Amino acid sequence: MVARLLLVSIMKTIERERPAQEPRPLCYVVDDEKGILSFVELALSGMGFEVRCFDDLPAIEAGLGQELPRLVIMDISLAGADAVDLLRRLAALRYDGAVLLISGLDEATIEQVGSVGRRLGLAMLPHLRKPFRGGELRERLVEHVGLGSTLGPPDLDQALEEGRLEMWYQPKIGLRERRVLGCEALLRLRHPFFGVLGPDSFLRGVGGERMRRVTLAVLDRVEADLEAWPDLFSSIAINMPASSFVDGAVCERLCEVARRQGAGRLVVEMTEDELMSDVESIFLAATKARIYGVELSIDDFGTGFTSLALLREIPFAELKIDRCFVKGCAVVPKERTIVKAIVDLAHNLSARAVGEGIENVEDLEALSGLGCDVGQGFFFARPQPPAGYAGFVRDF
Ligand code: C2E
Ligand code: CA
Ligand code: CA
Repeated sequence: MVARLLLVSIMKTIERERPAQEPRPLCYVVDDEKGILSFVELALSGMGFEVRCFDDLPAIEAGLGQELPRLVIMDISLAGADAVDLLRRLAALRYDGAVLLISGLDEATIEQVGSVGRRLGLAMLPHLRKPFRGGELRERLVEHVGLGSTLGPPDLDQALEEGRLEMWYQPKIGLRERRVLGCEALLRLRHPFFGVLGPDSFLRGVGGERMRRVTLAVLDRVEADLEAWPDLFSSIAINMPASSFVDGAVCERLCEVARRQGAGRLVVEMTEDELMSDVESIFLAATKARIYGVELSIDDFGTGFTSLALLREIPFAELKIDRCFVKGCAVVPKERTIVKAIVDLAHNLSARAVGEGIENVEDLEALSGLGCDVGQGFFFARPQPPAGYAGFVRDF
């Protein structure tokens, strides 16, 4: 109960602070279990929906007479009716929004009800089997309805304040030595309702002072993890936008962590477009960081607009081949050519080449054959919290 009150108050704060925007999409939730209704209502309000809850068919019929929602979430067995009745009603009204079935019945039955909806011409989302988490509901809607895909700045500020940002780690594997050389730290936000969220949900469009605070929080978390797991990390790569890297206080903090942890423990990953945005200042910051043993890595290489003349000026240690070239490089000749060109460019500039986004053994073997030095991707491991990463390193 206390947790629920706390959640309601968090959601209300989020609502209050969210700037006035276009009208909120309407969602109907139909279930005869009160607990499920309030759980789904809370989750959807947090995603910016206007929510109406129903527990019987006549009330929905009355509602549908006045307005058509964009989304209907429904249980299969309702008091005195069932999902088939409601699906037919929606079809008769030429409802063109999405329908999500939520049910504790067996998979085959839910699937069959879903196919009734599809036959009636309704846009059925892949169903959710009860019990499900708020995060699963959110994923379904982000993926299939494209709504509520980003949290607002207040969510990020609140997470910063409450220390709910954390780092997950994905290994970087030496392809010749076949051992873990280090890892990339990837930011996650632990949301009180939606669970663990990746940067696409909360970092898009973030810049300025807010991004600076995020980067400082990232450095704090990385340092805390290095100290909590003293023998785990040989080196950690941190993603950093140029604006943070060239900021005096951030660069100081980076150098301080590097000095305390010893040379060679930190790498800064920056995309090539970021890098080219302010070559002079980045050259200065990179030189300062290098004194403390921090290496620079150029991320998503091949997708931006690098000037090769400027590349010569930047003291980088690593080129990360964007995963769009890695995917399929085993079979697509053009991808292979690009991968090979980037590997050679890296080597000719005394840097190592890293292939990211390796998802299968064929692409891995192709990358190795093309002389790529380091590999990273789901094939080896997904990003995970320090304990999971420690298990991976132990067993590799
Ligand atoms: P990135 O730096 O290119 O990071 C790699 C992304 O690819 C990560 O997504 C990772 O989970 C994902 N990935 C790794 N292996 C595979 C694979 O085999 N297949 C596929 N499909 N994906 C793979 P994530 O964690 O969602 O991060 C997305 C982006 O958010 C990052 O792209 C980076 O640009 C940004 N980001 C992450 N952490 C931070 C941070 O601490 N600060 C800042 N400023 N940006 C961050
Ligand atoms: Ca990166
Ligand atoms: Ca990347």
